[in-house]
Order: sequence, then structure tokens, then C-alpha cells
Amino acid sequence: MDPEIISKLSSIVGSDNCKTTTAELYTYSMDASIHKSMPDAVVRPRSAQEVSEIVKLANEHKFPVIPRGGGSALCGHSVPVDGGVIIDLQRMDTIKDIRVEDLYAVCEPGVVCDDLNAALKKEGFWIPGPSSSNVANIGGMVATNSSGDKALKYGATRDYVIGLEVVLPTGEIVHAGSRTIKNSGGYQFEKFFCGMEGTLGIITEIITRVIPLPEKKAAAIAVFNELEHAGQCVSNIIAARLIPSGLELMSNVCIRAVNKALDLGLPEVEAILLIEVDGEAAVISDKIKKVSDICKESGAISVEFTDDEKRIAELWKGRKGMIPALSKLNEDYVTVMLADDMSVPVSKVPMAVKEFQMISDKYEIIVASYGHAGDGNLHTKVLMDPTRKSHWEQAEKAVNEIYDVVLKLGGTVTGEHGVAITKAPFFHKERAALIPTMKAIKRAMDPNNIMNPHKLMDWEGGFITHLRYKIERE
Ligand SMILES: Cc1cc2nc3c(=O)[nH]c(=O)nc-3n(C[C@H](O)[C@H](O)[C@H](O)COP(=O)(O)OP(=O)(O)OC[C@H]3O[C@@H](n4cnc5c(N)ncnc54)[C@H](O)[C@@H]3O)c2cc1C
Repeated sequence: MDPEIISKLSSIVGSDNCKTTTAELYTYSMDASIHKSMPDAVVRPRSAQEVSEIVKLANEHKFPVIPRGGGSALCGHSVPVDGGVIIDLQRMDTIKDIRVEDLYAVCEPGVVCDDLNAALKKEGFWIPGPSSSNVANIGGMVATNSSGDKALKYGATRDYVIGLEVVLPTGEIVHAGSRTIKNSGGYQFEKFFCGMEGTLGIITEIITRVIPLPEKKAAAIAVFNELEHAGQCVSNIIAARLIPSGLELMSNVCIRAVNKALDLGLPEVEAILLIEVDGEAAVISDKIKKVSDICKESGAISVEFTDDEKRIAELWKGRKGMIPALSKLNEDYVTVMLADDMSVPVSKVPMAVKEFQMISDKYEIIVASYGHAGDGNLHTKVLMDPTRKSHWEQAEKAVNEIYDVVLKLGGTVTGEHGVAITKAPFFHKERAALIPTMKAIKRAMDPNNIMNPHKLMDWEGGFITHLRYKIERE
């Protein structure tokens, strides 16, 4: 990159916050996906004004800018495929205001979800977040519209965003939404920026709705000898008008993985459902009893339930630690983020799980199925040796077939992680008719195509590309 540009960037953010050494750039060349590409520089602004100045400079010199929060996205979201400047927003980490009486909090984009929740907890409030809530930044959560194990009852990040400050691709600073729960002011731009993956602007302030913490929780673990029975049980619980705060499915591979990594002592059966209900203390035991009866009627061989907060936290720890746990299952294999967060209508969960298993057997690769099955959001993690060409070839075929099943069942290729690069070929298949409109919006808002270019609707290649792994053998 032109030294004159680096010098201008340094003068905006200060030389300590403008990184250009190979070691510094390397750490920003990857997120939590399979992709990698080196940026030319990394800047760490402290204010919307500084962000605006960087974006104006990018327009003047036509270099890409890629916003980045915790860098935990799973599809290459912040990987700079064309080089350019990463704008690391983690220094903008102030919780500016908490107004529980007005049901909102205001924060900068670099606030980590767990940190906001720790502050809200003191007031008896919270917001739901992704499983990665210990690293995900609020700005990144909005930009990916992330959601997690509580989405079934509590919704996704988008449902909480009531106001945003955004630096547009031109450098102009705008405000969308308000500090009110209701807002009928025309185009709902605060929602429009949710899920834009850094392609339409840089979020510099978020006003999020907050909700009261539930009074009590209880959890049930239902054990099944048949994966399909577990899938059917999910539909049966929802059809009975019980909306649990969490309804998670773990297949055998996943159970073995968390037992090995975390020593949880779960029965190593075909499938386990982890079901959590919450609400007023007076109704909790009745609710969990109903859930447990449905599990038994659906074929569970055993159902254990607990309202011990410590045990519940331990069980969720197993579920939250699933991705790292899977990577430890087989020393030669790693968890590769490919077909990893599709959603199907809840009633189609049993069929989807069954078909994924058949695809896994057909291609002789391990496809671990787990997920937030209560909202139809399934995760399959492919376990493979990413240094072997043949493993990639098998995985590619399997992933293609998995997504065909998802679309056949009326699902979406991404329920929570987003599109970026890895999911783009399949997203284009799913939303073919909308892609030209998305491109037109992008061209209108970002005429110089500087904001996180070549992602989402603009990714044109396949997904086995810009790999962080070296393919060394057949
Ligand atoms: C172990 C693990 C578990 C996960 N579990 C879940 C889960 O349960 N649910 C889920 O939804 N996701 C999950 N994820 C994915 C990821 O953590 C989420 O998508 C998260 O919201 C990303 O936040 P981040 O701050 O890390 O964003 P980043 O990875 O830094 O960025 C993500 C995208 O948002 C853009 N962006 C970031 N900040 C801004 C900003 N201020 N303005 C504009 N654009 C911005 C970036 O350009 C990029 O396109 C998981 C990831 C890991 C590694």
C-alpha cells in the first residue's frame, strides 16, 4: 500500500493504532472460517469521526475497507480477499447508557456481548446472544444478525436493534431508528443494516432493546436410541404450544466429543435433546413435566430433569463448547466450517437429520449433526483432514447435497452465521431472484465498491478458495 496512505491513516488513528508489520497483519488475515487473505493495513479507530475519515480516504484512493469486531464469524466475513484496510472496532467498547426503565441500552460496536450482559445483569436485564457471546462484539452481531440457543423463544439480534449510528460507504454519519420501542418512521433502516455483513456501512453505535431476566430455569435431558425419534420429539414439543427457551439436539459424534473434551459423562447414545424452559417460578415445574412427558411419548429411553442452576450451566457449557470439542475428537481431523447452520421448518427437522446422516455415510466423512433444533436451525460440522485434496473433494460433494436437501425442505442455507464467502454459492441458489436487487442497492450506496467488497451477493467463486490450510497430499 502507498506509504502516503499509511501515513494519512496513522494521522487519523495515531501511529500506535495503525498496524502494518507482517505479524500484525497475519492475525487479521483470518476469522473463524476456512478462509485466509492478508490485509495491507489494520487501523483501530476510537470514534465515529475517525471511522468516517478513514472511509472518506478509502473513497479518495479507492482501497477496500473491511470492518471487523471480534473476528469470530464463520464464513470469511472479515477476510480481506482483495487486501485493503481492516477497521478493527474493538477499541470502541464503551457501554454508553443503560436505561432499563426505558428498556434500552446504548453501546459502541466493540462491546463484547457477555460484557454488556454482565452490566445488564446488575439491573436484572439481558439480551440474547450467540454461542460465541464471550467474543462476539455487538457491532458484529448486528452486522451478521446473529442469534443463538435462545432464539426459539427470544429471537435474533435484529429483534433487539431499535437504533443505530452508521458511517455510510461515503463517509457520512447517519442515525436510524430511535430510543423508543415503537417507531413507525418509514423505512426501518435500523433493521435494514442487520445482516449486511459490513458491505453497506460501519456501525458505530447501537441502541438495543433489553428484556428482564427470567425468574427461574429448569432443564431436561432426553436420551434417544434413534436420531429420528429425537427430531420428531422437537416437532412434538413445539406442536404442543410449549416454547422452550432452548431446545438443542446433539448427535452421537457430538456427545462423544463433549464427553472427551469436557468429561461431562453424558450417555453415548444416538441422540440427546437438551431442553430448557424459563419463566415464573410457579409455572416452571409444570412446564418441564409436560416437556418430559412429550419426550417419553416420542420415544426417549430416559429423561432427567433438573432445576439446579449449576447443573444447567454445566450442560450448556457442553453445548457451547461443541465446536472446539469436535476438533479434539480425532487427532488427525479438524472441524471444518462448511454446511454449518442451515435452518429448515421445525416439522422437517427429523427428515433433514436423517438425510444428512445418509449423505455422511455415502461420502464416508464424519458429519456431526447438532443444533438449535427447536427453531429448525441445524448445524452439521464436517470432520476431515484439511491437508488432503481427496477430503475436500468428498466434503464438497457432501455439502452440495446437504444444501440441496435443505432447499428441497423449504429451508435456508444460513439460519445464523451469515453468507460472506463460504455460503455464497448456495445463498445465490436460494435467493437467485433477489441477487440483482441486492447488487443494485450495494452499487447505489457504495459507488466505489470499497466496503467489504466481493462478499455476500458479490462473491462469484466457489467456497473451497483462499484456504487457511495448505493442501499437501491426495
Ligand atoms: C465457537 C463459535 C461459536 C459461534 N456460535 C454462533 C452462534 O451460536 N450464533 C451465531 O449467530 N453465530 C455464531 N458464531 C459466529 C460469530 O461469532 C457471530 O456471527 C458473531 O456475531 C460475529 O461477531 P464478531 O464481532 O466476531 O464479528 P466479526 O467476525 O468481526 O465480523 C462479522 C461481519 O460483520 C462485519 N462487522 C463487524 N463489526 C461491524 C461493524 N461495527 N459495522 C459494520 N460491519 C461490521 C464484518 O465486516 C464481517 O462481515 C460462532 C462463532 C464461533 C467461533
